[in-house]
Amino acid sequence: MRIAVYDDGKLGLVKDGMVYDVSAALSVLPAAEKPWMGVRGDPLISHLELLRPAILAALPDASVKAVEEACFLSPVQRPSKIIGVPVNYHEHVAEAESDVATFSDRFRGSIEQQGFFLKAVSALVGPGEGIKLRFPDRRNDHEMELGVVIGRVVSNIGAEEALSVIAGYAIALDMVVRGPEDRSLRKSGDSYAVLGPWLVTADEVADPQALDFSLHVNGDLRQASNTSRMIMTIAEQIAYASRFYTLYPGDIIMTGTCEGVGPVKPGDTIACGIDGIADMTVAIHPAYDEARNVQ
Ligand code: MN
Repeated sequence: MRIAVYDDGKLGLVKDGMVYDVSAALSVLPAAEKPWMGVRGDPLISHLELLRPAILAALPDASVKAVEEACFLSPVQRPSKIIGVPVNYHEHVAEAESDVATFSDRFRGSIEQQGFFLKAVSALVGPGEGIKLRFPDRRNDHEMELGVVIGRVVSNIGAEEALSVIAGYAIALDMVVRGPEDRSLRKSGDSYAVLGPWLVTADEVADPQALDFSLHVNGDLRQASNTSRMIMTIAEQIAYASRFYTLYPGDIIMTGTCEGVGPVKPGDTIACGIDGIADMTVAIHPAYDEARNVQ
């Protein structure tokens, strides 16, 4: 099943190039008993198994439009965390080590030596929203990645059963401002975490470690690889992360980028795709509105 959140927050089922408005299915979600209390976990992903039959039931009466006409938001709106996996493709490690001035020598060594990092949840957008660069005068890079969405509450799980806790997959862009600051700051600007265009549920992906993916900027190929080339597998990533903290439904793992990361500037268009998942286009908007804004 391909599940989207689009336009003004509609729930969508994507099928054959069309998106069906199945928002009526949302009536099966339980009302929050104590809305002032923090609830960890994205409500859609937490109730995915409840939603699936409701989505199918809503389909006959759904209004429909072509996917090109829809504005896709992140299919996960309220993750408890966005986890970043660094240096997970050999060729990207090589390009980072060959240009320490750009990639910073603060972050070297294997994944286990560096650990994972976190991106602020407030950075999360869908492709329809586009990316606004915070510091257009600095180097802002695209990192094309497979996004993994956790479906269960998970702690201290072994790699051998880790794939069974995945809700689904989406395309992820781990955007970053290059420079000396901590990654959690440079990768957390508003819109620097793109997820979309929809969630492909795990049952539709036979082998997440065998997916071709690519990214073009303004039509020029920048990144192309296959998820088989990851150094730390997805199952190992989930196991490793769950040793440090509990994973909640909707938590996003950006599983690392391949070689070919490079700068984008306002006016550019990123086009990226993962075989069997989706294609998506993301605009780099004119420079971020730097006007003071306090609401
Ligand atoms: Mn990355």
